[in-house]
Amino acid sequence: MPLKVIVVGAGIGGLSAAVALRQAGHEVEIFEKSAFAAEVGAALMVCPNGTRVLNKLGFSFSNARAIILKRINMMDGQTLGTTAAVDVSRAEETFGAKLWAVHRVDLHKELLRLALEEGGMGQPVKLRLSSEVATAEMDGTIVLKDGSVHTADLIVAADGLKSALQSIVSKEAGPPRATGLSAFRFLLDTKVLKADLKLAATLDRKGSSDVGSLQDTHDPTKVRYIVWYECRDGQTQNFVGIHPTRDVNGDNQEGKLRCDRWSNPPANLLYEHSRSTAAKCWPLFMHAPLPHWYKYRIVLIGDSAHPMLPFNAQGAVSAMEDGGALGYLFQNIEDAKLVPERLELFQRVRADRVARVQILSNVKLGREKQVEEQVRRYAEPRGSSKSGVLLAGAHKHSDTKQACQRTWSSTLLMIMGEFECLI
Ligand SMILES: Cc1cc2nc3c(=O)[nH]c(=O)nc-3n(C[C@H](O)[C@H](O)[C@H](O)COP(=O)(O)OP(=O)(O)OC[C@H]3O[C@@H](n4cnc5c(N)ncnc54)[C@H](O)[C@@H]3O)c2cc1C
Repeated sequence: MPLKVIVVGAGIGGLSAAVALRQAGHEVEIFEKSAFAAEVGAALMVCPNGTRVLNKLGFSFSNARAIILKRINMMDGQTLGTTAAVDVSRAEETFGAKLWAVHRVDLHKELLRLALEEGGMGQPVKLRLSSEVATAEMDGTIVLKDGSVHTADLIVAADGLKSALQSIVSKEAGPPRATGLSAFRFLLDTKVLKADLKLAATLDRKGSSDVGSLQDTHDPTKVRYIVWYECRDGQTQNFVGIHPTRDVNGDNQEGKLRCDRWSNPPANLLYEHSRSTAAKCWPLFMHAPLPHWYKYRIVLIGDSAHPMLPFNAQGAVSAMEDGGALGYLFQNIEDAKLVPERLELFQRVRADRVARVQILSNVKLGREKQVEEQVRRYAEPRGSSKSGVLLAGAHKHSDTKQACQRTWSSTLLMIMGEFECLI
């Protein structure tokens, strides 16, 4: 008898888990609070650890119109010259899979296909929209906002940052801490960009399969940069800006990256575009690793278990890893009594690894030592210096400007290099 599984939330984590558990032979039903099963927002990078899980699930990057990323190009935001570059074109040989850029909507659509299609491995997942889960009991019961009650052998809580189920599993989870940084993002049609001669030239300098990171080098002690890559078969340009949070009485536009401090005209033009397009801006919070990921039959995954900062592009791919790991650990199980045992195993293989990723998402210039201490607490085996050695790379760049330009990419590579995928 297959297990009955309820997944709460049809985001990237929930869908990855639903597909993996379907393929493991279980009966899966998703409860999603929104009326439309569609992701919103811009693009994201799928690092090799996420790609490996998606490949295993049968995900088609070509259906998702994804772009292979081959180089991380650190650019001076004023001169637009390359200050450092990291070649990731051999990611498949080095890390076992490619580094992709994909629009969230396309990623979501392709995961939905894998979850819902007839045929394929296992039985199609059932998706219930407009179904907000209010609470759950650890015996496997969920209660919807409309009062209806549903039961399963396993509840996968993939309900994101503001999870309704997190406190049921991990009461000790403290409140999020403001980081003093905010992010904004916007998309531009490549045609619009190419129509502007200066921007077209900037695009050429960046390279179409590059991740461009335009650093504001005015004041290297302040984190202020735009990450730029394309998606949708090159038809759309994606921009994410990081900047110190400003108290601007709710005026998002003013709170965005102050490209106008840059002397370079293309950077200013991008800034103007961000003002005229529907850019979303929000403050970034830091969360300490949770001590518990599961309670009897309920398990947390994705942002509900390990919200992190976006700097290393690891939030969504960690959620994919969670989903893949659940599918792997719930193979060959028909006895519902074994669920807590398997969840204990899940927590054991996932929690320390993701805690390190979470902490590394907050590496700051000149404060690597502080993070190193925290990372060591979650080292495997405990107290080993493996992660500290990896962080040593960041210490070497004593020149502040250079270190500022390098920290982001070296951290990304550290993470891609250290953490092997479970499956
Ligand atoms: C600016 C920025 C850039 C980023 N870039 C990257 C990147 O390049 N690569 C990367 O890997 N990650 C990136 N991330 C992180 C990534 O977006 C998140 O980690 C990821 O979306 C988390 O997925 P999730 O499925 O856990 O949660 P969510 O995406 O939040 O999904 C939760 C789902 O649950 C539903 N839900 C919520 N509450 C309930 C309820 N009570 N009942 C039923 N349904 C409910 C929601 O409607 C939603 O559909 C970035 C984040 C930011 C902010």
